[in-house]
Amino acid sequence: MNTYFDHIPGYTIGEEIARTIRVIVYKATDDAEGKVVAAKLLRNDKDGHHEIEMLRRIAASNPPRPVHVAELKDTYEDGDNLWLFVEYFDYTLVELRPKEMKPLALMSIALDSSTGLVEMYRAGVIDDDVKPGNIAFKFGSGRAAYIDLGCARLIGHKTVGYTPEYVAPEIRRGHPSDTSSCYGWARTMEEIVTGKFGLGPHDVLSDYVPWVGREFARLVAQCCHHDPNKRPSVVELFERVKYEVQHKQRCPRCNAIKFRDGKCVNCG
Ligand SMILES: [Zn+2]
Repeated sequence: MNTYFDHIPGYTIGEEIARTIRVIVYKATDDAEGKVVAAKLLRNDKDGHHEIEMLRRIAASNPPRPVHVAELKDTYEDGDNLWLFVEYFDYTLVELRPKEMKPLALMSIALDSSTGLVEMYRAGVIDDDVKPGNIAFKFGSGRAAYIDLGCARLIGHKTVGYTPEYVAPEIRRGHPSDTSSCYGWARTMEEIVTGKFGLGPHDVLSDYVPWVGREFARLVAQCCHHDPNKRPSVVELFERVKYEVQHKQRCPRCNAIKFRDGKCVNCG
């Protein structure tokens, strides 16, 4: 229990679990339901309310609710502090060990994260800060979802923020596009498989990690194109990931799940 915040009605604020220049995240308990939630502490200003607006728009556009964007459960204004109580996830993709990544886990993360981009798009929202630290998953269900929409924006609007390493080149130049989030998604896929950020402009993931399917690797490479018009749209990205997942196969020797055009993770 964090006694400094013991005045927040309905919640017990616990340990700090993450911190950026914009937000501090605590593990908290919803006192009425006894459930663990993530309590995000922001400044109570226009920027602070921006994320609430994005989360509410996405939830409203995806009834009954989006399942690949963390659910906003409650908010509380406390003078200069603004609290967002959101669904709790166990780990972000940063905490995964790339050496232990398997085809089925990659497919599941790729499908959930591309579904989340479509759920945002349906609400007219593009996230300019898609990166491993902003996608989290739950043990048990394995469901992955976006947990931080502080740098999401409405389609056609100016960028509100980004992380330099993951950002699409057009955003740096001040011209955000509708495929900016596909770029961050692809860099995220590269990182969770190889353990390092970014491949060269002509590299494909399957050249480095043979169990990654060729078509999936080609999709990731296309999403990393410097020209936003040469990338697939958010919807095309989702459809192509879905196709690869639907056509997954089993290795005839060891029965492990594999990409239809990738090597077996065990047998090579
Ligand atoms: Zn095998």
